[in-house]
Amino acid sequence: MTEDTIVAIATPPGRGGIGVVRLAGHRAIQIALELVRLGQQPPEPQRSTLGAVLDPETGKVLDEVMFTCFRRPHSYTGEDVAAISCHGSSVILGFLVECCLARGARAAEPGEFTLRAFLNGRMDLTQAEAVRDLIEARTLYQARVAATQLEGALSARLKPHKQSLVELIARLEAGIDFADDDVEVIGWPEILKRLDAIRADLKKLVEGYDYGRIVREGLSLSIVGRPNVGKSSLFNRLLKMDRAIVTPTPGTTRDLVTETASIGGIPLRLVDTAGIRNSSDDVEKMGVERSHQAMADSDLRLLVVDSSRDWTQEDAELLRRTQRMGFMLVAANKADLEPRNSAEIIAQSASTEDGEESPPLEIISTSALTGQGVEELRDKILQAARAGENLGSEGDLVTNLRHQQLLKASVAALERCGAGAGLKVHHEMLLLDLYDALLQLDALTGATGVEDILGTIFSKFCIGK
Ligand code: GDP
Repeated sequence: MTEDTIVAIATPPGRGGIGVVRLAGHRAIQIALELVRLGQQPPEPQRSTLGAVLDPETGKVLDEVMFTCFRRPHSYTGEDVAAISCHGSSVILGFLVECCLARGARAAEPGEFTLRAFLNGRMDLTQAEAVRDLIEARTLYQARVAATQLEGALSARLKPHKQSLVELIARLEAGIDFADDDVEVIGWPEILKRLDAIRADLKKLVEGYDYGRIVREGLSLSIVGRPNVGKSSLFNRLLKMDRAIVTPTPGTTRDLVTETASIGGIPLRLVDTAGIRNSSDDVEKMGVERSHQAMADSDLRLLVVDSSRDWTQEDAELLRRTQRMGFMLVAANKADLEPRNSAEIIAQSASTEDGEESPPLEIISTSALTGQGVEELRDKILQAARAGENLGSEGDLVTNLRHQQLLKASVAALERCGAGAGLKVHHEMLLLDLYDALLQLDALTGATGVEDILGTIFSKFCIGK
């Protein structure tokens, strides 16, 4: 436990109905009580008590407040915690913080309350990260995913694997350390079986990241098409369907991104690549180049074509070019008008390069004018986003790149170990990889496992020496 008591305004900057000043540390409650006059003394932990902050100069009431305290270890950080809820005036809030600082508290660093919660064993790293994700959630669905992670869902999913690794390590270590004793050494088939079971499940988690990332960061959809086919109209229709318009996160928008919306709880970033056409102008070429890059980088591409016009060579070219970039949808728009082309004609232009069978084209007939087919289009976009969803439920979804990297490293170590076991290498060699695999999982949750391993060796094998 750290010695100092920290203080911070817990509510966002600016004016509001309520503002909260929070203290954590061994002097938290004492300092807070010096600032607040309470009706009831001493205050009962985990209960709010009405009180008042007095003006030190006049002795008069400056603000009415609610005071709440938590006694260690039953608090967010695991230390004594006090919260003063006053009116959301930045002047009062600033004054309260000044008073706390004058009494020996220190201004908290960003995230320090949660850091302390982690250091004091109140939560593991994945949970601490989930706190941040929950705060930053832009849709309710994202919040739900973060909340399940906050409950420790990912750690719970990893726990049996870590246990299994520790056990395997313990068996192998015991075989080496106590070679003269009659400790049963584990057989090769058993080693391989255990390795496979862990690796298979970790791999599943790694693969679920594709969808997890989309949930966390949103799906990027680039809308492609020639001018006037109805790209903007269609996008506006999609926006209207899900009223929850998402506020863009500062710093993440790129040049080409024009709007962000939410579809089924997944933030959708529209990358408008309107300027795509062949050009000889150098400046325009650069723009086209950037649009191409954005299209290629997108999770999904939507080609909009005008079904009331003849299908041209240029349309076919654009379709093939888009198709080469990965999964795409086609909206045959202006379906309310007399048709001049059809899904069959469009599909015939689909790329059949290298004689390779390309996936069937999803062609949805839409009208941005009447709204026809827009619901279906939305569902297809959602389906594409959720292609990876069945890989993991909300709880054990890997949404964080750090987690995915560590899981990948763990899988790699297990694969090395499995290869070694296949060749029946010395157990000491296997142990190197097993420790590595475990270390990656420990880094994920922030635990260190040496004691666990020692404990297992000596409790399980009961070697009374
Ligand atoms: P963009 O240049 O591809 O973004 O196309 P716009 O969305 O600006 O639409 C171009 C024109 O087509 C506008 O006059 C729209 O009102 C019209 N338009 C768009 N979608 C439809 C549709 O489904 N049916 C009809 N009849 N007109 C449409």
